[in-house]
Amino acid sequence: MTIDVTLLGTGSPLPSPDRAGPSTLVQAGGQTFLFDAGRGLGMRLTAAGVVAPMLTTVFLTHLHSDHITDLNDVVTSRWVMSPAPNPLPIVGPVGTAAVVDAIMAMLAPDISYRIAHHEDMTQGPQNTVTEVAGGVVHDAGGVRIVAAATDHRPVEPTLGFRIEHEGKVVVIGGDGVPCAGLDELCAGADVYVQTVLREELVRAVPMQRFLDTIDYHSTIEQAADTAQRAGVKTLVITHPVPAPAPGTAHEWIEIAAKTFTGEVVMANDLTKVTA
Ligand SMILES: [Zn+2]
Ligand SMILES: [Zn+2]
Repeated sequence: MTIDVTLLGTGSPLPSPDRAGPSTLVQAGGQTFLFDAGRGLGMRLTAAGVVAPMLTTVFLTHLHSDHITDLNDVVTSRWVMSPAPNPLPIVGPVGTAAVVDAIMAMLAPDISYRIAHHEDMTQGPQNTVTEVAGGVVHDAGGVRIVAAATDHRPVEPTLGFRIEHEGKVVVIGGDGVPCAGLDELCAGADVYVQTVLREELVRAVPMQRFLDTIDYHSTIEQAADTAQRAGVKTLVITHPVPAPAPGTAHEWIEIAAKTFTGEVVMANDLTKVTA
């Protein structure tokens, strides 16, 4: 049996014509998990053959805006496309419940219009929010998911996730820098998905706000070190900062390959990797 990983959106906060915001789809054992809900998610999800009512659970690595901009769209799409009540399980770090409450407040006018308009609709979207700090966050149907705190300070708290299914392992590392929790999640993983940054390219842009991104994202070298240390088979580079200029993706792979002896995949939107 396998775990399928589809990089739905591989962008960053800076809008890109080619990269939707950060979101990753993981499918295993007949279950469908979404990790983060960035810009343009609904379009990419549909392109991957999935619609919101099919999602088993939405997991959030952290509450940075680029990772949650379209969570409201998941909530609404699931609600209006489900013929019967279909609560959306959302699992994230402490603070997630307040964000979901605020999303529901934002949607209040829309919810009232639709309930008034559709006779068969008697209630708004139902979400079940679980805030976690780590540990086993899902264990059903042969799929176990473990969360651990990661280091994306000053953004706190943040989570990484390890998805296990019949001997296969996929890790969603999130946005942070190397840390013990991330190493534990990655131990022996088949696929490790990590946000990365090219420090020399960021330093070439003399804007302090951009330079500030260096100290809380893994550089490509650090991601490669984590992957090598943990014995990972395939490192998947996502959310590259800055977005690679056309024709330069091979540079990122070559830098990682200096220290990491496994396979390196430079993800574009809808890149699919199977563990
Ligand atoms: Zn991000
Ligand atoms: Zn972030």
